[in-house]
Amino acid sequence: MNVLMWFRQDLRSHDHAALSHAAGLGAVLPVYIFDPAVWQQADRSARQFGFLCESLTELRADLATLGAPLLIRSGPAREVLARLCARHAISCIVTEAAAPPELAGWARDQGLRWLEAPPQTTQEPLPQPALRCPPDLVANPLPLAQMLRIAPDPCPHRQRGGRKQALDLLETFLTTRAEGYHRAQSQPLLAERASSRLSAHLTLGALGPREIASALAARLAERPAGRWPSALAQFQSQLSRRTATATTARPDLAAMPADPARQRWLEGETGLPFLDALMRYLKATGWLSHHLREVTLSLACHHLGLEWRAASLALARRLTDYDPALFWPYAVQIAGMAGHAPRIYHPTKQALTLDPTGAFTRRWLPELAQVPDSCLQTPWKWAGAARLLGRRYPEPLIDVTTAHTAAREAIWARHGKPLRALVTPHVQLIEAPLQPAKGQLRLEF
Ligand SMILES: Cc1cc2nc3c(=O)[nH]c(=O)nc-3n(C[C@H](O)[C@H](O)[C@H](O)COP(=O)(O)OP(=O)(O)OC[C@H]3O[C@@H](n4cnc5c(N)ncnc54)[C@H](O)[C@@H]3O)c2cc1C
Repeated sequence: MNVLMWFRQDLRSHDHAALSHAAGLGAVLPVYIFDPAVWQQADRSARQFGFLCESLTELRADLATLGAPLLIRSGPAREVLARLCARHAISCIVTEAAAPPELAGWARDQGLRWLEAPPQTTQEPLPQPALRCPPDLVANPLPLAQMLRIAPDPCPHRQRGGRKQALDLLETFLTTRAEGYHRAQSQPLLAERASSRLSAHLTLGALGPREIASALAARLAERPAGRWPSALAQFQSQLSRRTATATTARPDLAAMPADPARQRWLEGETGLPFLDALMRYLKATGWLSHHLREVTLSLACHHLGLEWRAASLALARRLTDYDPALFWPYAVQIAGMAGHAPRIYHPTKQALTLDPTGAFTRRWLPELAQVPDSCLQTPWKWAGAARLLGRRYPEPLIDVTTAHTAAREAIWARHGKPLRALVTPHVQLIEAPLQPAKGQLRLEF
């Protein structure tokens, strides 16, 4: 029997339950499909495409060592599958995730079996399977971004895709970087080193969950004392949030009208230095830590007054690790939609707490070199402001105090007034609501 193995989200050959299952059924035809309709959606970008292509290049090399060429096809999935099934006498399609309903129906009508990876009972990662392939298969090149009409999106410091990169990150994280995992993640100067930065690789499935679990267990056995056990436990709990958070619900993402304020936010030109530094960092790297994603989106929605779906879409395009199932629950929550109490942060307090020396802000905003530390986050208060603002650096888009008060009042009007204040290490103030809805957290910084 010839089996088509459709790679959709787990771009690896190790610890791959669906591939191992396919290998046990017959000769395997490994396929990846670029669907132009997906790449023309407003939340997709060239940085995500570039990372995906690098990941596929490595998958193709790994499969080649098993004697299996990876067929790359572009087009609507159903048409591509129909052509391949007819050409290679395929009788079964195996994939990692549930079939989209319209494809499952089509496969049934064609008399094709559609199988997903069976549930795994073993804790050990699966080895690379031995593969047999139908004859005369030739691996073909990846499409260019222009062919899929993906707009250019330069990202000079983007992470590179591919399993080797993922394994390197996991190794450096577990052997050296994770020790500072707890405290450093909110601070932009430290977060890049202290976080695993595995998210983009996990989004594409370059590593399997059991591989990570077994590497974690091995490291824990080596370092049972000191700061390591709790750092590794926290990492493990973050990993489990992937499955706990993921949902298929998405808001309506019809095209949004242009908004000059949104563009200024996106380009790091709002005149609020810390926010601008974060947005320029994101543009150049494609990554921000969790807390900093919250801060940038919250300031956009609640202080700058940007339309929340439009701001979220713009943020989504900037993230190399963009995964709709993880992104949208947080965007909805931060914006305060679907019954969530929103998250709001004071722009200047966040800046002073998370970048206390100003080194991060200065690194990304060289035009503020002349501004003294005391006014770095509030350059409009600097005696020399007239020489800078509106010339080399923009006037602030908002009056921070007025915008923050207005944001708080808008939230209180919708959700009730906060009751008390608490102090935490990276957060200056958390105010709990009078009547918190069940299971909801309301943060006010
Ligand atoms: C507005 C917003 C949008 C987000 N969009 C995405 C997205 O598109 N894709 C994405 O992978 N993550 C998303 N996250 C979750 C989280 O911010 C990132 O996974 C994390 O910052 C990635 O950095 P890291 O790999 O260094 O994570 P680490 O802190 O090292 O965590 C390890 C892994 O655990 C998972 N993880 C960590 N924190 C979370 C979390 N809060 N929820 C779910 N999984 C988590 C990720 O897979 C991550 O790679 C979003 C968060 C927010 C607030």
